[in-house]
Amino acid sequence: MSGIRPTGFLHLGNYFGALRNYVRMQEEYECYFMVADLHSLTTHPDTKELKDNVHRVLSENIACGLDPDKVALFCQSHVYETSELYLYLNMLAYKGELEKTVTFKDKVRQHPDNVNAGLLTYPVLQAADILLHRALLVPVGKDQEQHLEMARNFANRFNHRYGDIFPEPQAFNYGSELIKVPSLDGGGKMSKSENQNATLYLSDDDDLIHKKIMKTKTDAGPTAPNSPKPDYIENIFLLMKLVSSEEVIKNFEQAYNDCTIRYGDMKKQLAEDMVSFIAPIRAKAEAIRADKTYLKEVMEKGAEKARQSARATMGKVREAMGLNYY
Ligand code: ADP
Repeated sequence: MSGIRPTGFLHLGNYFGALRNYVRMQEEYECYFMVADLHSLTTHPDTKELKDNVHRVLSENIACGLDPDKVALFCQSHVYETSELYLYLNMLAYKGELEKTVTFKDKVRQHPDNVNAGLLTYPVLQAADILLHRALLVPVGKDQEQHLEMARNFANRFNHRYGDIFPEPQAFNYGSELIKVPSLDGGGKMSKSENQNATLYLSDDDDLIHKKIMKTKTDAGPTAPNSPKPDYIENIFLLMKLVSSEEVIKNFEQAYNDCTIRYGDMKKQLAEDMVSFIAPIRAKAEAIRADKTYLKEVMEKGAEKARQSARATMGKVREAMGLNYY
């Protein structure tokens, strides 16, 4: 189970932190992937662009390889049981722990004029999304680690108080570690809504990809063999590892270590490999986005699958809580 907020264009971080894992998981597990539209309301109360963004995220999910026949691909707001479980879990979440959440503190800094209760209880809603399907594995990027720990706490508190209903969900990645794709300016992570010039979107055209990459910070190059890499150079290598061949990476590593590296060439190569990676996804997503009938069918089918699993869980939850009066 996992989700992505429809707050803008999907980017390389969403792909490598989340989507890539979704696509592999669909072959091995029963999967629930959603467009987290309710979550987006915590920071984006204006819904003018919501429909477009929901369509965009759905299309991009499918263009990256998600098959709506293999998984439940749905919109969060179509599954009303989410809001019910969120309410129950809110009674088991404490103000102090919610206020300490790193993402909450970040969001308060970014939106000081809209510190709403939904923002504070964001990790509770997220726990509801996951526990609603009694999910074991949650494919997410590194930024979500703390939220997953909170979801486990809420699950355990519920189980302790009312009986064993929820398994403990774990953050999941096929590699050995959770991934953080850095922003191109070296300051933090790529993100949908912030620092757009330093984020590579799956919808960026070839020219823009070249421009963004060529603008990244470098220096005159290492002066001693086998020097440690400064952060901003490490980031360029990291991006290369996501999209370039092993041979290309090896050549640039070697050139770095023997001080012959030319960062202009390296960035040009990275831009070309990035374009080869992004262009086919962009074209596919555009075609899917234009087919509104197909998107409607996908959402209906996905919601039906998700509701079925949600109803089964909520039956158990209400009974465990003693909310069955006849
Ligand atoms: P954003 O932060 O861009 O709004 P979301 O909060 O909707 O993205 O997160 C969707 C998924 O993408 C989550 O699993 C999150 O961990 C992952 N993700 C977002 N940004 C990055 C990044 N820069 N690196 C790795 N994973 C990321």
